[in-house]
Amino acid sequence: MQTQATLQTPICCRSRQPVCRAAAGPVVTAAAAAPSVLLPPETLRSARLLYATAGAPAHTYPGHKECAERVPAILTALEHSGMTPYERPEELVQLEGFSAAPLEAVLAVHAGKYAEALEKLSRRAAESGQPQFVEQETTYLTGSTYSDALLATGAALALVDNVVAASRQREAEAANSSSSGGSSGSSLAAFAICRPPGHHCTPSMPMGFCFLGNAAIAARHAQRAHGLQRVLIYDFDVHHGNGTQDAFEDDPDVLFISSHQSGAYPMTGKVGEVGTGAGEGATINIPLPGDSGHNAALEVFETIVAPAAQRFKPDIILVSAGFDAHWRDPLAGLQFRTSTYNALSASLKQLADQLCGGRIVFLLEGGYDLKALGDSVVNTFLGVLGEGPVDPFNPDLLRDEPTDKVQHVLQEVRRIHGL
Ligand SMILES: [Zn+2]
Repeated sequence: MQTQATLQTPICCRSRQPVCRAAAGPVVTAAAAAPSVLLPPETLRSARLLYATAGAPAHTYPGHKECAERVPAILTALEHSGMTPYERPEELVQLEGFSAAPLEAVLAVHAGKYAEALEKLSRRAAESGQPQFVEQETTYLTGSTYSDALLATGAALALVDNVVAASRQREAEAANSSSSGGSSGSSLAAFAICRPPGHHCTPSMPMGFCFLGNAAIAARHAQRAHGLQRVLIYDFDVHHGNGTQDAFEDDPDVLFISSHQSGAYPMTGKVGEVGTGAGEGATINIPLPGDSGHNAALEVFETIVAPAAQRFKPDIILVSAGFDAHWRDPLAGLQFRTSTYNALSASLKQLADQLCGGRIVFLLEGGYDLKALGDSVVNTFLGVLGEGPVDPFNPDLLRDEPTDKVQHVLQEVRRIHGL
């Protein structure tokens, strides 16, 4: 087994070094339930957007698109845009000192033997000095992959904890101040800038550069640690979130909505995949034709995501935020813009404010053009803060959207799901 010390060591992602114990908060054992560090009450009250970074610098492979440069590219773009706690101390906060996800949380989604196998593969890579490959060598593991995946999931869990704490504090203060006419202030959203991504791995199999289902584990954590029964997961990565779907396909309490490019990896996510058993209807797939872009993305939100969410009435919204539907991305063929992510994130934040006390956590999935990735996350931050887009790319380079084909898909999804 990998040592607990390795799994427990929190990493300061700004310095890429382990943080000191004093800053890291309490040591979390593999069996502990709460990996989190909570912001002080005054920060929970005032901050608008909390983010955590888990960059997995040693989980990388030469020439692979899911590489160690992804998180630094995002952080550089945020710095260049002034989207840092230093520049905007009243709104932005970075969560430091969170811990790796406890095994107990992971096992709410993944099989125990799967976690053991991941750890074993990662250890084999460490001992041999050679990466290990799965899935026809498209997905690699290094010696740090298992601990990096646990830390990425830990970021997601810690953000859920803080968003829930902020909303409950806000609700309590609103109740207290209602008699005196006070204001409850604005809600706290969160973004996990973490990798490796998570939405492709199934409960028992790594897939598509993914090892632990960050969004799925965060959903179960929200239910079990915080009593939030109904979780909406919206996945706008260009690829279908098959792993998340697998985790909840028979669960009526988790509404999973995925918009993705039809026919792209992993070839699942057809409109007829609607969930099974008690979960029938709680899976909504929207396979968009190639070249679908900004207009299609907004119409997906307005005609499917928003009404489905309003009908479902979630207690928290999780967003599998992949940015590989951007037109510059090398792995797929949709045409979202950086400003598309601004509009989507603003709308999702409004939906969370309307339906679930503002509780919303974005989790990084794909996004492999580093410039587009960084600028898209900047635009997501802006959208969450209620500010308009900054899009550095020339939209004249885009092709016409296949409007008729998009309408056909949306009508079919709405018919199947009664929306
Ligand atoms: Zn993807």
